[in-house]
Amino acid sequence: MNRQKSFINDLPTLYLVATPIGNLQDMTYRAVSILQSIDVIYCEDTRVSGKLLHHFEIKKPMRTYHDFNKTMKSEDILNNLRNNQNIALISDAGYPLISDPGYYVIREVIKAGFNVVSIPGANALLSALVVSGIAPHPFVFYGFLDAKETKKRKELEQLMNHSETIVFYESPHRINKTIKAIDDVFGERNCVIARELTKKYEEILRGTSKTLQDITDIKGEMVIIVEGKKEEIIISDLSIIDELNKLVSEGLSSKEAIKLVAKHRNLPKNDVYMEYHQNNEKE
Ligand code: SAM
Repeated sequence: MNRQKSFINDLPTLYLVATPIGNLQDMTYRAVSILQSIDVIYCEDTRVSGKLLHHFEIKKPMRTYHDFNKTMKSEDILNNLRNNQNIALISDAGYPLISDPGYYVIREVIKAGFNVVSIPGANALLSALVVSGIAPHPFVFYGFLDAKETKKRKELEQLMNHSETIVFYESPHRINKTIKAIDDVFGERNCVIARELTKKYEEILRGTSKTLQDITDIKGEMVIIVEGKKEEIIISDLSIIDELNKLVSEGLSSKEAIKLVAKHRNLPKNDVYMEYHQNNEKE
């Protein structure tokens, strides 16, 4: 067991600091104050983060941390922590680790017994999810699908039976193909594209995997939210009359039950009506 009392122990800390996803006003006071107080900032791109730090007058040494140099950089971070320094990890935008580097180093830091503390802030997936109009939970965050079409479709096949809302990150040049793949594999589902969140040209496109397929003029950064699979009513092992009686006992009027059963079974409403009345008159 690892029990971390983040603000009571005196252990050096790796702070995971969320940064804006497009609107600098989303930088939190706490993020600024933590970044001003720590010793070294690890980031993906010193040019991108340099602009942010300059804007908030944060003058701290910056070093890069990427997935391709994670072993070496994690060792640097651990050495800093061993020397009693506090460290921050930031990404180009949003939370580190969320479709961004950082998972490897936080595990190493936890293993070594130091603190890992999150400084909350902006994030694309939650911002998109809450405005989508699609059930916000339960949800599955998938991140980026594979760029290759065959692999992407295989990944979608793994997800097609999930009843949870699914959230994807996607790039503008793949959006049409991805929405089409979702429609082909899942069938038509309610679907939302949230793009350029928090920025001037923020746009939320609410539709279905069919109606959103041919959108042509969407650029920028985007999140896709797809409704989960709806529960199918299994009718095969019930007779028509048993299904009708079940629905009526569950509170539907006989008229509503007849309409629903006719629709499920693709039968003329009159046939179902006759079945219901003949059987119930017998009793
Ligand atoms: N770490 C980030 C977070 O917490 O959301 C995500 C980083 S990931 C490398 C970048 C992807 O996030 C983009 O391709 C896009 O799918 C999504 N994203 C980032 N900023 C966004 C924004 N302002 N609007 C919509 N999607 C955004």
